[in-house]
Amino acid sequence: SKDSGGNTYRFYDQLTQESIEKNFALEAALGLALANQELYLNYQPIVNVAKQVVAAEVLLRWSHPTLGNVSPVEFIPIAEKSNLIIKIGHWVLEQACEQLKTWEASPVLGQIKLSVNISAKQFLYINFVQELREILARTGINPSLLKLELTETAVIDNMDDVIHKIGILRQMGVRIALDDFGIGHSSLVYLKKLPVTQIKIDQSFVHDVLTDSNDAAIIQMVLAVGKTIHCDIVAEGVEQVEQFELLREFGCDYFQGYYFSRPVNVANFEQFVSAS
Ligand code: C2E
Ligand code: CA
Ligand code: CA
Ligand code: CA
Repeated sequence: SKDSGGNTYRFYDQLTQESIEKNFALEAALGLALANQELYLNYQPIVNVAKQVVAAEVLLRWSHPTLGNVSPVEFIPIAEKSNLIIKIGHWVLEQACEQLKTWEASPVLGQIKLSVNISAKQFLYINFVQELREILARTGINPSLLKLELTETAVIDNMDDVIHKIGILRQMGVRIALDDFGIGHSSLVYLKKLPVTQIKIDQSFVHDVLTDSNDAAIIQMVLAVGKTIHCDIVAEGVEQVEQFELLREFGCDYFQGYYFSRPVNVANFEQFVSAS
């Protein structure tokens, strides 16, 4: 009826209004999160074919006193829209490098590499390379222990700038991974132009690899291309032993997912590495 239609309309209006207000509140809170020490890092192991931990992905966490734990899926887009991502992303890089520094002298932990997510806006920021250079100089870590994860979309929309910056970073010894690979546009065409050292197959392909022959075929194709251009391949979102075994048969080099470990705090990560 006309009436219920009107109600529905008002309902949606209200929802939009509420979500705008919520985002506004989140943005304001996020602006204070660094100073209030509400941000911290989790580490998710990345393992080789022998299930040994060789690296970890650094994943940002936000614990707010009244909002509780806010997911990066929710707050990273807000940080990106508001430019806060530049300051927050800088902090993440600094923390990751300092963590590598504390592991430096350890025979086991000193071998662990860290992969840090870099949002497009942060990577394209004019001072990004210079600021990273300063962090590396200050911490004195081996730059080849650090990997930057860029998403396909970010890269493809800004090809020339990105190729240039990756070139400089590679000269500095920093490595680059292409994240969420396969869900964007003409990935394979652009891939050979990019001096990346690693490709991370998006977890949506891994999710159904046992049952969907299209997903299995796409993964095999990415593996074939990756070998040709001398990139190593990480499968993300591995949750079952059968997925791990099939992906290993396909020739995948590295694996990440709940089957091995969820993202954990640094103490638990260190324990996991010692036990592996
Ligand atoms: P991502 O880079 O694709 O990171 C992988 C996400 O998959 C993480 O979610 C991780 O917890 C989750 N994951 C790992 N293994 C499994 C699995 O087996 N099954 C399932 N279902 N999920 C798995 P998380 O930590 O919630 O992060 C979400 C996204 O937030 C990340 O996706 C990344 O895009 C962004 N993000 C996180 N930390 C940072 C950061 O420091 N900077 C930036 N720019 N983005 C970040
Ligand atoms: Ca990532
Ligand atoms: Ca990913
Ligand atoms: Ca993702």
